[in-house]
Amino acid sequence: MKTIATIAAELQGYDPQALRVDAVNAFLSRLVEPVTTQESVGIFQALGRVLAQDVISPISVPAHDNSAMDGYAFDSAQLSGDAPLKLAVAGTLRAGAGWALPVAPGACVKIMTGAIMPSGLDTVVPQEFVSVNDNGITIPAGLLHAGDNRRLRGEDLMQGQPALRKGQLLTPAALGLLASLGIEQVAVWRKLRVAYFSTGDEILSLGQPPREGAVYDSNRYTVFGLLSRLGCEVIDMGVVRDEPSVLEAAFTRAAQQADAIITSGGVSVGEADYTKLMMKKLGDVAFWKIAMRPGRPMAVGRIGNAVLFGLPGNPVAVMVTFLAFVRPALLQMMGSTAAAPPLLKANSMELLRKKPGRTEYQRGIVSTGVDGTLQVQTTGNQGSGVLSSMVQANGLIVLHHDQGDVASGDSVDVMMFDGVV
Ligand code: AMP
Ligand code: MG
Repeated sequence: MKTIATIAAELQGYDPQALRVDAVNAFLSRLVEPVTTQESVGIFQALGRVLAQDVISPISVPAHDNSAMDGYAFDSAQLSGDAPLKLAVAGTLRAGAGWALPVAPGACVKIMTGAIMPSGLDTVVPQEFVSVNDNGITIPAGLLHAGDNRRLRGEDLMQGQPALRKGQLLTPAALGLLASLGIEQVAVWRKLRVAYFSTGDEILSLGQPPREGAVYDSNRYTVFGLLSRLGCEVIDMGVVRDEPSVLEAAFTRAAQQADAIITSGGVSVGEADYTKLMMKKLGDVAFWKIAMRPGRPMAVGRIGNAVLFGLPGNPVAVMVTFLAFVRPALLQMMGSTAAAPPLLKANSMELLRKKPGRTEYQRGIVSTGVDGTLQVQTTGNQGSGVLSSMVQANGLIVLHHDQGDVASGDSVDVMMFDGVV
């Protein structure tokens, strides 16, 4: 486990007072380590988990050459370029059944999709292409090539080859793939345990009566949702009062139970409260000003064996810093090897004011324009407390560090929320 000082020394141009977004990710990828404990789970429990071992195909899929269409299987050697081919029908073959007899030249077999190709036959003519008469079928000239409409043995997965790699996030498609191999049980990394709490004396828990100057805690719920969708085991520690002994107890308990601790609030420069003091006292923690908007203040480090993400308090800043930094770091801790989803390009429907020298994330509504290309408009007020904008938006417009103003019609990068936010 590397200390904050070691990582800071490794990174070129590390400036905690004006840290670039890419430097934050580079720092975090050096700070966090993947879990090392595996467990075996049934396929229904495997959704969203991360594979801890390669899965080697015990069988080939498909197990035999088979038909991709309902039609007639025949030997393509009988095709001649310019004449229609007349064939007798020797019988019918359904999916799941076998065909034992040899098929004589001049004959074909009526075959259903998925049925095993009878030996010696390599091509299927779809039934809608043939004319049927009393003596059999006629295949028009020039329509087919050898091997058409035949699926080859092992074309999906070949026996003995890796079907899925260690580090694969198990998606619905991956579950289906496992099932296609007859696999019911897989080795996955254990779930990541993440404890989170909100700080600030002005923060009300649900159920408390409203009070002048106080706000209901929304961050715990967005963090709960984001973590749950990521497949983490969540440990909700409530709102923690700004009192040294209470904060100390909360951090200590979180560090004992969790792999990661997420807090919100209390990390900005002007903060009078004890959150930062307690992080400093109990852990190895860096306090950053990040060149970004929204966001900026963030604390990162370790308390005990747990990684600490001290997020800012503003509700939109919490979500944006989670998406930009915490999520990729947690995925790494979960053992996932998935590349970050690519940013999309969309044409901005408006002028966007942007100062070079920081990364800005604006809430965007991406849609398809009349010409079929993607376009994006902002949700309006981009205040870092305007949580309704995160609900309206379906993505974040990412205005990169060196980028300046964006003219209406110019292309911008967008990070879509799909399935995440
Ligand atoms: P702070 O980072 O503590 O200075 O907080 C910045 C702003 O976010 C303040 O207006 C806080 O009231 C607000 N805030 C902090 N924590 C929460 C929370 N858990 N839920 C909603 N708003 C919060
Ligand atoms: Mg505060």
